[in-house]
Amino acid sequence: MTSLTVDQMAVNTQKHSLEQEVNAYLLTTASGNALLIDAGYEDTTTFIYEFTKHREATIQGIYLTHYHPDHSLGAPELAQKFNCPIHCHPLEYPRLTSLYEQHGIPVQNLDIRADLIPTSKIILEDHTLDIVFTPGHTHGHIALYDSLTQVLFTGDTVIPGGTVWIGPPDGHLADYLQSLDALCAFSPKLVYPGHGAVTHDPVPLMLRMKERRLLREQQILHFIKQTPQSIEQITKELYRGSIREDMLWVAKKTVQGHLQKLIDERQVTLSYDSLTFNALYRANERPEV
Ligand SMILES: [Zn+2]
Repeated sequence: MTSLTVDQMAVNTQKHSLEQEVNAYLLTTASGNALLIDAGYEDTTTFIYEFTKHREATIQGIYLTHYHPDHSLGAPELAQKFNCPIHCHPLEYPRLTSLYEQHGIPVQNLDIRADLIPTSKIILEDHTLDIVFTPGHTHGHIALYDSLTQVLFTGDTVIPGGTVWIGPPDGHLADYLQSLDALCAFSPKLVYPGHGAVTHDPVPLMLRMKERRLLREQQILHFIKQTPQSIEQITKELYRGSIREDMLWVAKKTVQGHLQKLIDERQVTLSYDSLTFNALYRANERPEV
């Protein structure tokens, strides 16, 4: 087995209000064959390009964990410079192409392949990466797994020291919790996340992330069991004093993700106040059947 070098490129964007630092990864074999996992933002391509040149790497493809701009907007320029395709999951394809169109990037000039599905593998000389479907943060999110070294590239499914954004329209909390379980089942030794530091022995971290979500869910249920509440009331109650006012909209979307899961599970019903028409969430006495 030839050696494989993994370079974590933590690049800084000025264009994203929530996440300024994002990771892209360069995997290079001893003979210089290489691939990129994620591609940073449009203003971080110079660093990735120069670093790749410095490694004397020949890029065979750019593999996107998901379509979000901080991971994908750098891909078109890099794909053009490296003359290589961009790969994503089929569910990400329409979102990715519409994101590019919104940014004035002509998609017809790009070779975008919606082929990152669990039955396909990425081959880099004698190294193989498996595609793991990990929906939740987005509907077509994927992780990449090297079973020989038990190394996982998780994209935004795992963010050490941060919170993974799970809210509408992209997020789905029940899917996300299942994806965390699926990643834990590999018993990975190392995680290369979409944001934050490389993490050794990541299973306890992933279990804690799941626990935190379930705890929050219990808090929400507790509030609305006392009295039906609007999403604004629940958000204020949960986050009072702990986040900035201008970030409350993010918290509100996260709460919305929780409520959607509880509605799907029939633990909560959305109803409307007969006088004010405000949307109120009420806990069901016992789950409806
Ligand atoms: Zn993301």
